[in-house]
Amino acid sequence: MLETLHRIVQAVNAAGDFRQALEIIVERVAEATGGDVCSVYLLEGDGGHLRLMATRGLNVDAVGQVRLPVSEGLVGLVAEREESINLNDADRHPRFRYFPETGEERFHSFLGVPIIHYQSRLGVLVVQRQARDRFSDAEVAFLVTMAAQLAGVMAHARVRGELTDPGDADDGHPLGLDGIAGASGLGIGEGHVMTVPASLDSIPDRRIRHVEAEENAFGRALEAARADLRGLAARMQGQVPAAEQQLFDVYLQMLDGDSLRERIVAHIHAGHWAPFAVRLTIAEHARRFEAMDDAYLRERASDLRDVGQRLLSRLLSVGEEDQPLPDRVILVGEEVSASQLVEIPRDRLAGVVSAGGSANSHIAILARALGVPAVMGVRELPVHGLHGRALIVDGYRGRVEVDPAPALHDEYQRLAEEEEAMTAGLADIAGEPAVTPDGHSISLTVNTGLAAEIERALEVGCAGVGLHRTEFPFMVSPRFPGEDEQIERYREVLEAFAPLPVTLRTLDVGGDKPLPYFPSHDENPFLGWRGVRMTLDHPEIFLTQLRAMLRASVGLDNLRVMFPMVSRVEEAERAAALLRRAHAELAEEGVVTAIPAIGAMIEVPAAVYQAESLARRLDFLSIGSNDLAQYLLAVDRNNSRVASIYDELHPAVLRAVASVGEVGQRLGKPVSLCGSMAGEPAIAPLLMAMGLESLSMSSGRILRVKRVIRTIPYSAAQALLEAVLACETPGEVRRLVNAEMDRYGLGGLIRAGW
Ligand code: PEP
Ligand code: MG
Repeated sequence: MLETLHRIVQAVNAAGDFRQALEIIVERVAEATGGDVCSVYLLEGDGGHLRLMATRGLNVDAVGQVRLPVSEGLVGLVAEREESINLNDADRHPRFRYFPETGEERFHSFLGVPIIHYQSRLGVLVVQRQARDRFSDAEVAFLVTMAAQLAGVMAHARVRGELTDPGDADDGHPLGLDGIAGASGLGIGEGHVMTVPASLDSIPDRRIRHVEAEENAFGRALEAARADLRGLAARMQGQVPAAEQQLFDVYLQMLDGDSLRERIVAHIHAGHWAPFAVRLTIAEHARRFEAMDDAYLRERASDLRDVGQRLLSRLLSVGEEDQPLPDRVILVGEEVSASQLVEIPRDRLAGVVSAGGSANSHIAILARALGVPAVMGVRELPVHGLHGRALIVDGYRGRVEVDPAPALHDEYQRLAEEEEAMTAGLADIAGEPAVTPDGHSISLTVNTGLAAEIERALEVGCAGVGLHRTEFPFMVSPRFPGEDEQIERYREVLEAFAPLPVTLRTLDVGGDKPLPYFPSHDENPFLGWRGVRMTLDHPEIFLTQLRAMLRASVGLDNLRVMFPMVSRVEEAERAAALLRRAHAELAEEGVVTAIPAIGAMIEVPAAVYQAESLARRLDFLSIGSNDLAQYLLAVDRNNSRVASIYDELHPAVLRAVASVGEVGQRLGKPVSLCGSMAGEPAIAPLLMAMGLESLSMSSGRILRVKRVIRTIPYSAAQALLEAVLACETPGEVRRLVNAEMDRYGLGGLIRAGW
């Protein structure tokens, strides 16, 4: 059964579009279960009706026509109860209802399983047999597994608009997509998908408005592909054996022949984007070749794919010429890259939407540094379908609105304007200190990692760098960067902020930040060989970095060094000893610099409970709340599926942070926090009241947090903290902190949904 399931899933994934996928499912599932009927019903938008979408065994004319209320019939009962129903006498069940259009009266046994995607009901998968016998346990298990697979395909098709007729799913159909908030802010603009040399199999659908223009583009691409092949054939003349030479003729014949061309044009007329029409056609033809017994003919399937790929390259390059950049670009991609991002002029870049990644991916960090709103991890992102569509990126809530209704658009426009006014209004406090009205001060520092971040941070004014992530040069380089190369990078940031202190964090790779040239092969990377664990195992790498940091600080003496992922006291001791050794060795070489302040990140629960032991041995502690929340809550910080339960306002996280703050105060050792909660204006007063000495955040957050600090008295923050620490749920905490913000007229600094 597993083998069969695997083959069906493979075939479904290779299908050109959703309808084809459904056809494959009903055919193969009917075969595998020995069912006389297999059908897929889909729940309609109103949630009250199911529509027959594909069938083997029932009347095919009923497909798309039969519409059943969820409150009626056995299929409705499966959807209603959200559980499987297995009957040998379906027609005697009180909920049986006969739909004459389907011709199902002959079938007595019935097995229906619901299709559910992350708690959301999508439809029902049904098999039926004429004989009056129940389906076996193995058959039920098979169908349930099949339905789970189908759920993913369906959810994807739904956001791509494939579940309705092409006309209905066309532009103007509003759609909301949820992802992870990557960089806060609101962006309103037009979707822009940068075309990367794509493989035919990964070309998604894009709905078109101008059939004729699309057909013309295809005609031009076809001509260009023919010319390419002729040119290639001429160049190869005499260089390859005659038999190979004939291949070009075969290719040309394929391109010249009517069957491919006509089929592609037909798909374009059905509303598909030309590249997708090519994909559909090639898949159809290739399947026919692959099913042939003759090995030679089977081989032709790969030739056909090659031809399709050529056509595609031509189509994409033809399309590129008519792709002017919109005024307000929302960059959309499966995995938006840093190089794509920097290709768009900054004054036109209004937002970023990525199917992959998380709040802590490079691209999100870069977007934050540039002050561009970003939504990451939109798993059902219909990438190419968003090209040219009106989009709103809500980087606070991690939501993307596609073709928003006018009222929603206006509301966002108003919010964006308000926000702009607020940011402009904040500029006047850039030079002011972060002191509460009752005289308590806290230092607000920035997180850096990329050169672009340094410039912005200097503009807003800060008390130095609380976290400089040093892994970026390691990640973009094809090998470990050498000492001199590293010195250059560290000097840049140390010099830019001098005499303000700059905290360089030693290499924190592993986990979600693997180095391609130094793989760890961990099965569970977040609990594996990462951060200081890796660098302590490789003193040659660690010492090079420590030497580079020290050498970069010569004459500036504003360096602080901290170690990530410390979970044992000995790790901090060994790392500090290596730093002292590097310092002593450099002194012997005549390189004289002050010994930096040394700290550990508190980002593992074990370190929270050993904060006192660590504080006694080191100069400072810095709480890495991003990882700390991940490990305390056992929620992967990069997994969009569990993003809703990754919550920094969870009482467990707040209590852990408060306990580290208390240790720092008792021992007189400074404690800072450099995870993203430091940059949340509503949390800042709490962190201050916990006794933290500094907060480190992306530069875009500094002024907001400063506004809060300068508005809410320290005494009020302490009272708030007391109330918050008595809360039992994140919801209670959220209500309290939001109410406090409102009380001081600071509600505008946070957004609904936070
Ligand atoms: C953290 O874990 O909170 C932190 C600041 O480090 P990073 O996000 O780089 O893991
Ligand atoms: Mg961390």
